[in-house]
Amino acid sequence: MLREKGRRVERVTPELRQLVADMIETMYAANGVGLAAHQVGHALQLMVMDVTPSDQPWSMTPARPMPLALLNPVLSDPQDEQIGDEGCLSVPEVSAPIRRAAQVTVTAQDLNLQPVTFTCAGLLARAAQHEVDHLHGILFLERMDAATRASFAGKIKKLQKETLAALPPARRRAAAVL
Ligand code: ZN
Repeated sequence: MLREKGRRVERVTPELRQLVADMIETMYAANGVGLAAHQVGHALQLMVMDVTPSDQPWSMTPARPMPLALLNPVLSDPQDEQIGDEGCLSVPEVSAPIRRAAQVTVTAQDLNLQPVTFTCAGLLARAAQHEVDHLHGILFLERMDAATRASFAGKIKKLQKETLAALPPARRRAAAVL
């Protein structure tokens, strides 16, 4: 699932609203600042973010209230660079410096299917890039430089093994070739 590209969300059903509420709850419970639908078993273009609990700097123009729930988000106009530690709720116990754009523009839809556009920087820009990656099946492991990735190779292999062992046999076989 984490390697799949998410389907576009075209309709907002009560079930989708419930999924968003569950994702926000899961994000807060895990002390995360963002969560993609993929991480809770739905390959959809849907993500939530709330960076306000963090003490890391961020900005958003124009400002919108958090938590944010964004449908079909697309990033554009990346500016400059930032390097900061990232972790992922789907890859426990791994955190490493990742290079990201310092600022990025997000274009998406809200839960009323209304267009949303904002430019963000700092932690919010980092979270947006991490979550949009999830929606395209990309994990932050792929964004590590080669040396950092190599240093986590043993740990990642162990996590993959544990994940495969937890899958039903039919899916285990499909997953093993990825
Ligand atoms: Zn993640």
